[in-house]
Amino acid sequence: MEICYFRALEKIIEVHIMNEDMKKYNEWKEYPERDTRGTIWYPPMLSPLDMDAIWEKRNIGFYVHVPFCKGICKYCPFNRYPWEENAAKLFVNSLKREIDIMSDIGYIKNSTIVAGYFGGGTPTSLSSEQLVDIISHIKDKFSVKENIEISLEANPATIDYEKLSALKQAGITRISLGIQSFNDSILKSMGCSHTASQAITAIETAKKVGFNSLNIDLLYNVPGQTVSDWEQDVLKTLSYDIDHVSPMCLFVDSQSKLFDEYYSSGNTVKQIEELELNMYEIAHNHFVNNGYHMYTLYDYAKPGKECEDHKLNWEAPQGEYFGMGPGAISHINNYVYVNKANPKEYSDIISLDKSPVGFGKKLSIVDQMSRFMVFGFYCLEVHKSEFQKKFGVSVETIFGDTLTKLSIQGLIEDYQGILKLTDKGMKYLYNVSSAFYQEDYKYYPENIKKKIQPKLTNQSS
Ligand code: SF4
Repeated sequence: MEICYFRALEKIIEVHIMNEDMKKYNEWKEYPERDTRGTIWYPPMLSPLDMDAIWEKRNIGFYVHVPFCKGICKYCPFNRYPWEENAAKLFVNSLKREIDIMSDIGYIKNSTIVAGYFGGGTPTSLSSEQLVDIISHIKDKFSVKENIEISLEANPATIDYEKLSALKQAGITRISLGIQSFNDSILKSMGCSHTASQAITAIETAKKVGFNSLNIDLLYNVPGQTVSDWEQDVLKTLSYDIDHVSPMCLFVDSQSKLFDEYYSSGNTVKQIEELELNMYEIAHNHFVNNGYHMYTLYDYAKPGKECEDHKLNWEAPQGEYFGMGPGAISHINNYVYVNKANPKEYSDIISLDKSPVGFGKKLSIVDQMSRFMVFGFYCLEVHKSEFQKKFGVSVETIFGDTLTKLSIQGLIEDYQGILKLTDKGMKYLYNVSSAFYQEDYKYYPENIKKKIQPKLTNQSS
């Protein structure tokens, strides 16, 4: 009896599929007319489909967090620990085991890895052999796209020609050098472990080894740094004709060693902000006038030299990636989660063959929509059609009030269906991005200004 019922339904659906003109079937009735049957799948109208489309491989990225540094910078807000040989050995073994665990997951097996990134900490605090071992293990265990871009952050004090050559040979295609400044006194004031001359040698060595994709990180708004100091760093950078630069404003975390020093100058928050904006404009103008374009909140690239990992993580619609290593963050299968941050705790869990995931959240549809906009604006623009395509509803329907408000404030504009930050919006990028936070999250991250201003008031009184 049941079988007959299903066959009958199948027949009905088949007829629906075959016939494009649904209107001639009058099967659906509105109350008070009584329907005599329902459907066993929804939506009831299907189109021809093949198996390959259902099980199409996803494109995802990976991130590896190396949590050690040979020296700890005063401003550092990252998950890092002083380098120690045995701890590093334990970490490498645990990481390889985590790679094994991840590669056994069906979702990952059915994915192609299209971008990779080694960050930290300082990945190059590990030896060449350890890094090559990790990279080879990743390539053995995952389905990795041919010619994949794999970036690796390097500290100038922990690289030489042999190490960079070994990394290139193993498959690293892009090096991101943590230069920060070409000024020794500024490097010293931040507690960096390298010197300006090591920074220059690092650039020259990376070029000599043949890295075609090279980034350098620069820091501005550092205590004691003048506008002229900063401009010198920018000009020096331009002289090396690097294809990618990330000038970042120093964020002084209230937990960092630099916090008290930074806010002991008696400057008001407003003065510090004005200096920061001035420095941003100097860098922006120099880079844009020299063939770079800004494509994220702090990345400038020559055409075609944008970092694959950054685009995957932030550009709307954001891609999926999984993080490995202590404190690594992942965004995959509609979850955002973070691994246990402490290397010892991380290794202890992995030694039990368990996943080191610490905290996370399954993203509701509202989270997904907010995330789309929050990170989309990190890449300076959001295509309205992409929002519609992903969520089946217009961005105006969901965020109409917020968009109108930001528009009236002159922070964004709708240019032919692309929501773009205005020049003013670029300076208020975090305000624009956080306008899309859900109400419960609006107090994240902590309001640093509220924390700082009383400190400054006390100093001046
Ligand atoms: S090198 Fe980077 S991660 Fe290490 S202490 Fe300095 S800022 Fe932090």
